[in-house]
Amino acid sequence: MNHLVNILSNITGRKVIFPFYHAVADTIPIHLKHLYSVRNTALFERDIQLFLKNYEAISIAKASEYYAKNNKHAFCLTFDDGLREFKELAWPILKKYYVPVTLFVNTAFVDNKDLFYRFKASLIMDKLLSESAIDFKKTNEILGTNLQNKNSLIQFIMQINYANRGKLDALAILFKVDFTQYLKDNKPYLTTAELLELQSEGVTIGAHSHDHPLFNELSLSEQLLQISKSMNWVIENFKQDIKAFSFPFTDFGLKAKLFENIFDKENPILNISMGTAGIKKEVFANHLQRIPLENSLKTAKQILIKEYLYYIIKFLLNKNTIRR
Ligand SMILES: [Zn+2]
Repeated sequence: MNHLVNILSNITGRKVIFPFYHAVADTIPIHLKHLYSVRNTALFERDIQLFLKNYEAISIAKASEYYAKNNKHAFCLTFDDGLREFKELAWPILKKYYVPVTLFVNTAFVDNKDLFYRFKASLIMDKLLSESAIDFKKTNEILGTNLQNKNSLIQFIMQINYANRGKLDALAILFKVDFTQYLKDNKPYLTTAELLELQSEGVTIGAHSHDHPLFNELSLSEQLLQISKSMNWVIENFKQDIKAFSFPFTDFGLKAKLFENIFDKENPILNISMGTAGIKKEVFANHLQRIPLENSLKTAKQILIKEYLYYIIKFLLNKNTIRR
């Protein structure tokens, strides 16, 4: 065991952890390039070795039980967005070390039917970086802005939200970025057939909403529709015992009413749901918080130590449990 990680997990009493990723890539695809720090295969393999040295690898089916008992060091690994890099680069490494994993997918994007609006923003940003003559008059008409330079335009584009995502499609036409062609040429997402193949090799498939909205911008009924629509598709296609869901972006600001609905005693929509708040306790026993590993290219050891120290500070401030 690594000394410091071990000491900190014992001091904090947080023995079961939930690291999560989106992709692993040695050449970062353009649709991910401007969004987060994608780890290469060597760094990812080091992460896995660090986890295995300090924690037992457990599947999502055991996550709630282990988390509640909290008497063994364990890690439960998940990936979001259902990307091809998971199958091609991450899964071979996980198989090599016998690490169980869950892959959360969006129903609107599986089979490369459409592209997540943030991926669209990354593609447009990349095009603009090499563009010398930008038509600001037309751009400002589309955006309803008065932007005068490339930097402020890029900044604006990277902040376009789910409700305004249609503007990205309009900008793509203006800047000649062809999303349909990109989907065809690059196939960023896994297909249903590929997901079934992964499932047959031991991967658990979970839902990650229909088209990846930021949940706290939706009404309660819209939130429930996003969950049930994607979860029902997973249930129908993958016939698994566990109904698992990870919230797109963040579960920050989501109300108790939503979780009371999801985990209804008579008729629960889900068995387990996951957020992205790091090491934090939750009042809802089947809602678990995960640790993001892609905010930087620091090693898993550095990230875990920082998360544990941050947890201690939150504990001292009495802010280590999320109240809704
Ligand atoms: Zn996602």
